[in-house]
Amino acid sequence: MKARSLPQKKLSPQTPQNKLELVPFIPVAETNLSGREKEYVLDCLETGWISSNGTYVTRFEREFERFVGSPHAVSICNGTCALHVALLALDIKAGDEVIIPSFTYIATANAVRYTGAIPVFVDCEKETWNMDVRKLEAAITSKTKAIIPVHLYGHCCQMTQVMDIARKHGLFVIEDAAEAFGSKYNGRMAGTIGTLGVYSFFGNKTITTGEGGMVVTSDENLAKKVRLLKGQGVSPTRQYYFETVGYNYRMTNIEAAIGLAQLENATKFIEHKRMIAAKYNELLKNVPGIQLPVEKKDTYNSYWMYSIVVHPEYGITRDELIQRLKASGVETRRFFYPCHTMPPYQKKGVMLPVCEEIAEMGLNLPSSTKLTLRQVEFIAKQIKSYAK
Ligand SMILES: *Cc1c(COP(=O)(O)O)cnc(C)c1O
Repeated sequence: MKARSLPQKKLSPQTPQNKLELVPFIPVAETNLSGREKEYVLDCLETGWISSNGTYVTRFEREFERFVGSPHAVSICNGTCALHVALLALDIKAGDEVIIPSFTYIATANAVRYTGAIPVFVDCEKETWNMDVRKLEAAITSKTKAIIPVHLYGHCCQMTQVMDIARKHGLFVIEDAAEAFGSKYNGRMAGTIGTLGVYSFFGNKTITTGEGGMVVTSDENLAKKVRLLKGQGVSPTRQYYFETVGYNYRMTNIEAAIGLAQLENATKFIEHKRMIAAKYNELLKNVPGIQLPVEKKDTYNSYWMYSIVVHPEYGITRDELIQRLKASGVETRRFFYPCHTMPPYQKKGVMLPVCEEIAEMGLNLPSSTKLTLRQVEFIAKQIKSYAK
């Protein structure tokens, strides 16, 4: 083992036998709780405010609004429920169709399915891996109610075109910004451009609350509806009076306390991710067969996950690269399987060749805010050394 040349001697929690061999471990993602998280959580414990009532929930929402520049942010128990409640607020229901990219995390499709609506899948672009807006209009039918563009791995979808097409056809737009907190499109924060925007604060996301999510909108009535639905449909003015069938999709005060502390470091986290991406770009730019992530002129990429695509000229396959990096203690993650190839969503005749191909060639490299430039150098060196 090459343990001596490695910059970090961290043991893999997944493979206890590594203890004996001292193989270092560089995770693909890692929580960074180095701010006031502990202080704020202790405050919750000491005051007893641990469920969804409490000042941290409101503080987190107001600070989140300020950070992304949206007038209304409503905290939700996780990103999937945030998508679900955003769809419900727009009255999306059985018989409707919602257009989404097939190349996304499964939650985007599942949330549509929870409402009874049908997710209609669109292929992705080769360069950004986001929904190909040139193929968007062909997917619209008389049943289409909404489009959910996803800003994959941090790069913004082409929102100008999405919004133009939505306006032309009278469709709602829910931005799935779960992977793009802090990214900007033409200077506007990802998630604040569509009718509603949705974020996730799962442990591997750019800021985390453990489990958590947020819905933002500039439409006051929609914000009220999201609040109503996430809290069992209880009237905001009459105690125990339920106006509609609602859900318990509330975030706890403890989660919000963590979120508030995370927000205080968010700019630092994003700058760190951008610094890592710049280093990877510099070191990997001339490796034959390795396609790097882009940052198009209209996008400020928060690089949630630094991702590459392995083309045949590289010499070994994506899966072989994953195995070799793993042997050197570098954790990576394969790209998502396209949703339309997963058992719940398979349908005869649907073929989306670009995402089907890219899904088998792409991987996420370590991208955590704790990753050092020396670790990036080590990872890049490994990747270079396997090239043909
Ligand atoms: C993480 C993620 C979600 C859902 O988030 P959870 O908080 O895990 O429910 C939704 N969409 C995308 C694209 C994601 O990456």
